Amino acid sequence: VGVAQRTRQDPSLQQWGIHDPSRPLPPVIDPGPAGPPAPVPADAVVLFGGSELTGWTGAKGGPPKWAVRDGYMEAVKGSGSVRTTQAFGDCQLHVEWAAPSPAVGKDQDRGNSGVFLMDTYEVQILDSYENRTYADGSAAAIYGQFPPLVNACRRPGEWQTYDIVFHRPRFDANGALVSPARMTVFHNGILVHDNDELTGPTAWKARPPYKAHADRLPISLQDHSHPVRFRNIWIRDLEK
Ligand code: MG
Repeated sequence: VGVAQRTRQDPSLQQWGIHDPSRPLPPVIDPGPAGPPAPVPADAVVLFGGSELTGWTGAKGGPPKWAVRDGYMEAVKGSGSVRTTQAFGDCQLHVEWAAPSPAVGKDQDRGNSGVFLMDTYEVQILDSYENRTYADGSAAAIYGQFPPLVNACRRPGEWQTYDIVFHRPRFDANGALVSPARMTVFHNGILVHDNDELTGPTAWKARPPYKAHADRLPISLQDHSHPVRFRNIWIRDLEK
């Protein structure tokens, strides 16, 4: 069974309103047990190796206020998102994360964070293990646009991986969209987005159109008030 590429013009996207509770939920797939941190390719830039937040700033600049201990960083409620000091466009990004254990809350209020490419386009982080929410807000959703093809979430507290291939949108000299952003994503090694074409920047309860931006922007991680943990974050720059 083939997996169709999902595009902005796809009727299957247009048919569903944003955060539509009747949109079908992705089928649950057991991805198998968590492993050790993934090896870092020789040509990758390590964004977080486990011990310090050099290379990251707070959302408003200045030092990030997230906690770092025992080889991971952890979102601190109210501290704001963190973003890389380096900027990236097309890239291959590897992120490992774990939802709080024991699980607290439900729906979107449970293990929520997010990986933002170009500080603009979110791959949702959520504890989607036995936690129902709207399909386009599930773990590994391209938030508000495309649910993951499957729900490959591990239990809270277990390490999970995202491997994201991202192509930035292209704009002409007048700022008009030439080609949309595209994402291929693996959650715990399982394909969840196959070259999906984004409708525009991530938003809540809205699908705003593209707005021209720089060719390189930081990666950011969302503070959504939950102590989600991260380790072993690296990136391969595909612009070179
Ligand atoms: Mg989020």
